[in-house]
Amino acid sequence: MIDTHAHIDDPQYASDFLAFLDEQRKAGVEAVVVPGVNVASVETVMAVCNMAPAFCFPALGLHPEDVKDDWQKQLAPIEQTLGKGECVAVGEIGLDYYWDKTYIRQQKEALAAQLELALQLNLPVLLHNRDATEDMLQMLLPFSKRGLKGVMHCFTGSRETAERILKMGLFLGIGGVLTFKNSHLPDTLRDIPLEKIVLETDSPYMAPVPFRGKRNEPKYIRYVIERLTEVYHLTYAEIEEVTSRNARLLLGLE
Ligand SMILES: [Zn+2]
Repeated sequence: MIDTHAHIDDPQYASDFLAFLDEQRKAGVEAVVVPGVNVASVETVMAVCNMAPAFCFPALGLHPEDVKDDWQKQLAPIEQTLGKGECVAVGEIGLDYYWDKTYIRQQKEALAAQLELALQLNLPVLLHNRDATEDMLQMLLPFSKRGLKGVMHCFTGSRETAERILKMGLFLGIGGVLTFKNSHLPDTLRDIPLEKIVLETDSPYMAPVPFRGKRNEPKYIRYVIERLTEVYHLTYAEIEEVTSRNARLLLGLE
């Protein structure tokens, strides 16, 4: 199984990190994409990925919560490292109107700049959207027509939103929310082809049931796959195989 979104550069994993990785491998995790969120992540994400080549794959980007007036200055070192060709994606990038609406204009500017960068570098994007769906979809449309690839990370939206995302050729990133008791996501996914889904944990956040509220780990993808077997009426192995293939194709993991 492949975790396409896990912040395992978080200090919560630092003590005994190699043993932690070993545990993930033994549980059947084949690859983990580690997205950056700001300038500090350049160092932490690359360090973690250098410790586990061909297992942890780096992505870098400026997260909307880290976008302020000086976003161009913040983006410069991120862009420079992306240019070295070691990253598998640009992300995590996007729009977040939930916590703070002060910098909406700057968030849109930073997102547009990073979408442009992804096209230039021919890399997929890891997209974060919170309370900004309409602006997000409108911004993505022209880029998708130019060949943008990527994942709408932690997708929890409506069927209509899902269809608009798929029409643009993007994937849905599905994680722990699927296992939550009152989640409408299983119903939403029923008509969505499994070929358009990649799995993720968003570790250390969003732990699936039965670990909800605790520190998440890539190996808990298992619980998401188990829930998906009920949604799609397929076996565990089938869900695992298709979603892993999707992730490999999209992110070019080897
Ligand atoms: Zn994230």
